[in-house]
Amino acid sequence: MTIDKQREAILKYGRKMLTSQLTTGAGGNLSICDRTSGRVAISPSGIEYFDMKPEDVVITDLNGQVLEGKYKPSSELGFHLALYRERQDVNAVVHTHSVYATTMACLGWEIPAVHYLVGFSGYKVPVAPYATFGTDELAQNVAKGIGAYNAVLLANHGLVAVGSDIGRAFNTAEEIELVARIYYQTKAVGEPVILPDQEMERVLAKFATYGQSPKDTDHV
Ligand code: 13P
Ligand code: ZN
Repeated sequence: MTIDKQREAILKYGRKMLTSQLTTGAGGNLSICDRTSGRVAISPSGIEYFDMKPEDVVITDLNGQVLEGKYKPSSELGFHLALYRERQDVNAVVHTHSVYATTMACLGWEIPAVHYLVGFSGYKVPVAPYATFGTDELAQNVAKGIGAYNAVLLANHGLVAVGSDIGRAFNTAEEIELVARIYYQTKAVGEPVILPDQEMERVLAKFATYGQSPKDTDHV
């Protein structure tokens, strides 16, 4: 992916975070890693997504050295880089403060398989222990807490979703917010039925071939 395409994608999905109500103001952040060049494009700190211009996106290397950009990178650069180091399958990270996922994070509750869409993360969504935003401690907690899952709740803070590309990481953030909302609502009126691991295994196997393969959509 060229740097220009990375910058455009950060703007597009940053704006989608706001229009999809996954965050407010300049909250949350997102990045894309190009494994071939080792370049990371990340949202600048504290700038609203609709005010952001392509040249405002910060380009760093995998050690956090700023290569391009006049603004400071996101204060959470640390956990984005820790995730790229820890998980070679991850090329994009989306961090949101979406309300229902954050509600669970503030309760310190994992999200179990209350709905099969939790499969976007895996068998569940785990919780990483609290640490102050923008610290090395939080970076370590996130990289360790996510394990092999594609999403992790940050205690008293929000959600982090990862993927092989930014579209997938964003979809995971969106679907996990839906599952968090369903979990909240079921807990409000009764005791939800949780799908057994065996069923989630089947769901995860079906996810691997769900939708259109790139070959099927060549003509689109
Ligand atoms: P940044 O604007 O520095 O990315 O911070 C937002 C945030 O969500 C901190 O956790
Ligand atoms: Zn945050």
